[in-house]
Amino acid sequence: MLTMNMNYKNLKESYLFAEIGEKVRTYQREHPGEHIYRLGIGDVSLPLPCTVIKALHRAVDDQAFRESFHGYMPECGADFLREAVRRYYGERGIELSSDEVFISSGASDELGDIQDLFDRSTAALLPEPAYPAYYDACVMAGRRVEHLKTVRERDFLPEPEGRLDAGLIYICSPNNPTGAVYGRELLRDWVDFARAKGSVIIFDAAYEAFIDDDSLPKSIFEIEGARECAIEICSLSKTAGFTGTRLGYTIIPKALERNGMSLNAMWRRNRTTKTNGVSYIIQRGGEAVFSPEGQQEIRKNILVYKKNAREIMRAIDDSGLWYCGGDNSPYIWMECPFNMKSREFFDFLLNRAQVVGTPGVGFGAAGEGYFRLSAFGSPEDTREACSRLRSVLRT
Ligand code: PLP
Repeated sequence: MLTMNMNYKNLKESYLFAEIGEKVRTYQREHPGEHIYRLGIGDVSLPLPCTVIKALHRAVDDQAFRESFHGYMPECGADFLREAVRRYYGERGIELSSDEVFISSGASDELGDIQDLFDRSTAALLPEPAYPAYYDACVMAGRRVEHLKTVRERDFLPEPEGRLDAGLIYICSPNNPTGAVYGRELLRDWVDFARAKGSVIIFDAAYEAFIDDDSLPKSIFEIEGARECAIEICSLSKTAGFTGTRLGYTIIPKALERNGMSLNAMWRRNRTTKTNGVSYIIQRGGEAVFSPEGQQEIRKNILVYKKNAREIMRAIDDSGLWYCGGDNSPYIWMECPFNMKSREFFDFLLNRAQVVGTPGVGFGAAGEGYFRLSAFGSPEDTREACSRLRSVLRT
């Protein structure tokens, strides 16, 4: 007899995101020709860097000749790319071996798939507000979730408390949606907590490239003891514009063991069974990101987004409203003005200023009354959106 995975019945429909999409479409139908300024997008707007495009073209040509053709790639990633990632960490003083690096098709896949390593009875601690995929992946796996309390006074970054008990802990820094970054001390507290409890931290570093402040950790492996309790999941989506090209990497140290089992060996076994590797062409494009020229070019693009973020921050500064993020992150998380709820502010901004953002409540109940603005739009649109935002906040 076939029984479906009934956990899917426990997933909440993301009505909010469907609803805001519909509201924008309705507005456009009713106001033809009016431009909408999108500060809600989580996708990049700049194209891939030149160095990456050239590498992709060269790799396509390689596939045309018997001598340079590549068929199936190694499941855990090509040596040249694992080695490039290893060097990238080495430059920051984090010594890895290349077989601690697993190449993936992006962070989303890994954030959910990695749960294969843990028994269903292992509960997960999730901060709230949070990137919704963590919660949904846990629900699909039938995993119990405990939400971590966060407060605005600490930029919605959760702190470990002795009473908490969980096997898996999801941490995202720089954070989506709040843009806040875990400081070294707070991350150390989480590492100490995880080691004391025998938990494993899933560290989502999808926005690490936006950190300029050297005092802030870009990788959890900058924290002593993290190799024994953490997995780091990273992506080239926002770092290098790979949202549509798809490439990421996951770091699982060999020192990470639970129940006498090596998580690195388990993941190798998992990937060799469930994937056939990422395409040769895309991996060559990824390798180019880590070249000196590639790093310079991605830096230039990130600076464009960071300038947008500063523009958004200045617009909110003028209103005196509370916000966090924006400094080392592409996201700004602001309180809604006039005691509005998130959805109300969405409607207000759309109708009064033709600016679209993301209601905070879409990232969990703790996000009610807050709003996420994104710096991934074009500089022109962002400038105009900020001028409109400034004037509606003044009214
Ligand atoms: N993690 C966070 C926090 C994100 O915001 C996103 C995408 O928006 C991802 C992971 C997914 O990244 P990828 O495009 O590599 O799947």
